[in-house]
This record gives sequence, C-alpha cells and structure tokens, in this order.
Amino acid sequence: MSDWLPDDALVDEAQTRRAEIEAGLGAVHDRVETACHAVGRDPAEVTIVVVTKFFPVQDVRILAELGVRDVGENRDQEARLKLTSPTLDGVALTRHFIGQLQTNKAGSVASYADVVHTVDRDRLATALGRAAAGHGRTVQALVQVSLDPEAADDPDRPAGRGGVAPAAARALADLVAAQDHLELAGVMGVAPLGGDPDAAFERLLEVAVAVRTDHPEAAWVSAGMSGDLEAAVRHGATHLRVGSAILGSRPALR
Ligand SMILES: *Cc1c(COP(=O)(O)O)cnc(C)c1O
Repeated sequence: MSDWLPDDALVDEAQTRRAEIEAGLGAVHDRVETACHAVGRDPAEVTIVVVTKFFPVQDVRILAELGVRDVGENRDQEARLKLTSPTLDGVALTRHFIGQLQTNKAGSVASYADVVHTVDRDRLATALGRAAAGHGRTVQALVQVSLDPEAADDPDRPAGRGGVAPAAARALADLVAAQDHLELAGVMGVAPLGGDPDAAFERLLEVAVAVRTDHPEAAWVSAGMSGDLEAAVRHGATHLRVGSAILGSRPALR
C-alpha cells in the first residue's frame, strides 16, 4: 500500500497551523496599528517579539516564513535547543531571552541570545558581560524594572522575580553599559497580575526616560503582552512580547 494518506494528513496539518499563525499575526498587527493610531504613534516604531515558549521549532519556522524577525523564549534549555536547531539554519532571526535568568545560566544564554530583556541585578550584569566576552559576542541587554507598586519606593528591595526597584534602575543601567560585551538597549517590565497596566507602564516609561538622560542610545521600552499591549503602546513601548494572541493558548502548567 502506498503511504500517501499519512503524508497528506501531515501536509494538511502544517497548512492549518500556518493559517492559524497567519491569522493570529494579522489580528495582533491590527491591534497594534489601532492602538498606535489612537495616540498618534507610527506602528513602525513598535516591534512585535513573538514569544514561542511551549511551541515547537516548526512554529518558529512558519513565523519566519511569514516575515517575523524577532522571537522570544523564557527558559534557557528550551530556548537553546529550539533556537539553535538545524530546522532554523539559514533563517534570519533575532533571538530574545525574556525569562528570569539565573547567574549560572548566563554562559549558556550569552551563546545564542542576541538580546536579554531581564537583567535585574548587578551580579547578572557582570556575569552576562563576562559570558558574552567568552563567546566573542556582543549581547543587547535591557534592565528589567519591577512594576510592582510596592517596589516603587524601596530601592533596597531585593531584586529577583520582578526586576530591580525603579529607584535602583539607573545605577544598574550604568553597570550594564560599562560591560564591554553588553550594549544597554533600554528597559523592560511586566505589569503585575491583576494590577492596572496603564499605571505600571507609566512607571516604566518614567524609568526609561531617566535612563535615557544618562544613556541616550538606550531607546527600547519592552512592555506589553497579549492582554495589555494597548496600554503598553499608550505608554511608549517600542517592543511588545506577544505569545498566546499569535500562537494560541499554552498548557496551564509545565
Ligand atoms: C510568556 C511571556 C510573554 C507572552 O505572554 P502572552 O500573554 O502569551 O502574550 C511576555 N513576556 C514574558 C516575560 C513572558 O514570560
């Protein structure tokens, strides 16, 4: 018997997935355009980083074929396997690391990431700088700022989960900029769950402006996800990190 049936089914499945992703991308582009026009911004100022965590490398390939140039991952092991896979040979992509990063993973991440969004403490800044040097690479780095309202007034709040306290962000930005193999690109934030994203992104923009007075080249504001990208656009986001609105929902647990 010929095996044309299973092959055909696979082709169908790939085409269905491609159509789904294309529709998701189109819907998100429309949202970004509408949000930009509402505040008089040019949509060309806003880059969508498609967050591919949980999704297979074939989806990354489809995204690239549909014109996506920026993809993000949040876990080192998954990111390294996926983003260095032969499936992506010859595919032009900027690889963003957007997850919480342990210092002992800095060496790995610096080997494949073009951008790290989550530098939130001094030790990580220096470890990442050293690791990038060791790989003979230059990595773009963003200072992750905590947008938790309780962090706003406490510069000594321990960094960790949600980023550095806003009051400590400029000093951390100076340290990142001082690393020979890091380029300070800007700031990043995640709006607290259940909070008001407009208030959170307004705080982030204040920090971004302060950092830019010392480092005019640090122009990026990485903010906004599937659920709050309009608020991020209203408050000057240059990079949106969007996963589920493009690729569909992820399993609740991993
Ligand atoms: C997963 C993730 C995103 C994307 O979230 P969606 O709600 O799926 O768009 C953005 N930023 C970070 C830091 C993430 O971990």
